[in-house]
Amino acid sequence: MLELEDALKRILAVLPGPRIEVIPLGAAAGRILSDTIHSSVDLPLFDNSAMDGYAVRATDVATANENSAVRLRLEGRVEAGGWFPGELTAGGCVRLFTGSPLPRGADAVVMQEDTRSDAAKRGEILVTAAAKPWENVRLKGEDVKQGAKLAEKGDRLTVSQMSLLAAAGVPRIGAGCRPVIGVVATGSELREPGQSLAPGQIYESNRIGLSALIQGSGAIPRVYPLVADSPSAVREGLEIALSQCDAVVTSGGVSVGEMDFIKTVFEEAGGQLQFWRVAIKPGRPFVFGRYREKFLFGLPGNPVSALVTFLLLVRPALLRWQGAQDVRLPSHAGVLGTALANPGQRRHFMRVKVDRDGNVLSAGIQASHVLSSLATANGLVDVPPDVTLPAGTTVNVMRWD
Ligand code: AMP
Ligand code: MG
Repeated sequence: MLELEDALKRILAVLPGPRIEVIPLGAAAGRILSDTIHSSVDLPLFDNSAMDGYAVRATDVATANENSAVRLRLEGRVEAGGWFPGELTAGGCVRLFTGSPLPRGADAVVMQEDTRSDAAKRGEILVTAAAKPWENVRLKGEDVKQGAKLAEKGDRLTVSQMSLLAAAGVPRIGAGCRPVIGVVATGSELREPGQSLAPGQIYESNRIGLSALIQGSGAIPRVYPLVADSPSAVREGLEIALSQCDAVVTSGGVSVGEMDFIKTVFEEAGGQLQFWRVAIKPGRPFVFGRYREKFLFGLPGNPVSALVTFLLLVRPALLRWQGAQDVRLPSHAGVLGTALANPGQRRHFMRVKVDRDGNVLSAGIQASHVLSSLATANGLVDVPPDVTLPAGTTVNVMRWD
């Protein structure tokens, strides 16, 4: 049986590099950058005003206060998007708005609230507070210097990175193509939610969650009809999905029972099993196979096992396939509010709920068919075999929410 890390290494080792496409920046949220991007401009692009107010020379208003206002000549007005053609001279000021370029010769902005206009002398402004040099001025390049790195190859683009790239004038980016992933659920007992159930039948619940997780991993899910537990049905289901997708995620039928057909049928169809069985709980019977340029991820049918093995083994694969550098689940430290006991012989990825105060609590019953505790949970804690982590232990919480 493989250790989780070895299983993941073997998957990542055989995946092809990303295919690259150029997409508009507006469509790039969550996509994986194919190239490091440097800024071709300074941000701000030019010195500009942080306030509605007046551009001044700081020395001219050094003595200004409520009781002794300084009188300045109004030399012009620059709206955001405009430009002052001349140079501000001693004793002058220029009307500015937030974002207006600072006129040459000015070195500060007095905010509007610290000025009065003189009804008697329309061309003059009374300044009632001093301004220090560069006060209320946003300096060219203080945010980003020309040439600075904005985003790195392999980054998964965040909304804020997209805003930064837009501000630097980047209209489109190169990104790893999104693989299309078939989602196939096997099991003769399964019916679609909404259908009527005969005795012994259950509602199918894996494709919904797996599709959402595939989407959340940046790939494109393609959901197939339910497949019964017979070699011919499994073969047909696998062949159709493999022919139409870059990889297929199946659920069910990978254990050791005589109704578990995924492995044998996949091999009979010409697929090569790379490994099966990983030393984790939930989810030991995980299958990874290759069929020409395509891949099979065979997940166990138990709903919790299916989702957890997806998060630990398939999500990283889908991200790396698109060129992602960091494929780990986001994680953070937390302190256990309840003990977590793993009396078993495999690492147990236990469902936990991190509350608003940061306490890490067991999400409930940890059996692999218990979906309610998965629904309560927002994280997983890796508990080693034969270990009880007492309350108060600092643990690493992997998050998927
Ligand atoms: P299997 O891995 O096929 O042996 O299935 C293990 C358990 O998970 C059985 O109780 C199945 O009924 C259940 N199961 C398998 N696939 C699904 C599914 N897609 N939705 C809900 N339950 C499932
Ligand atoms: Mg089954």
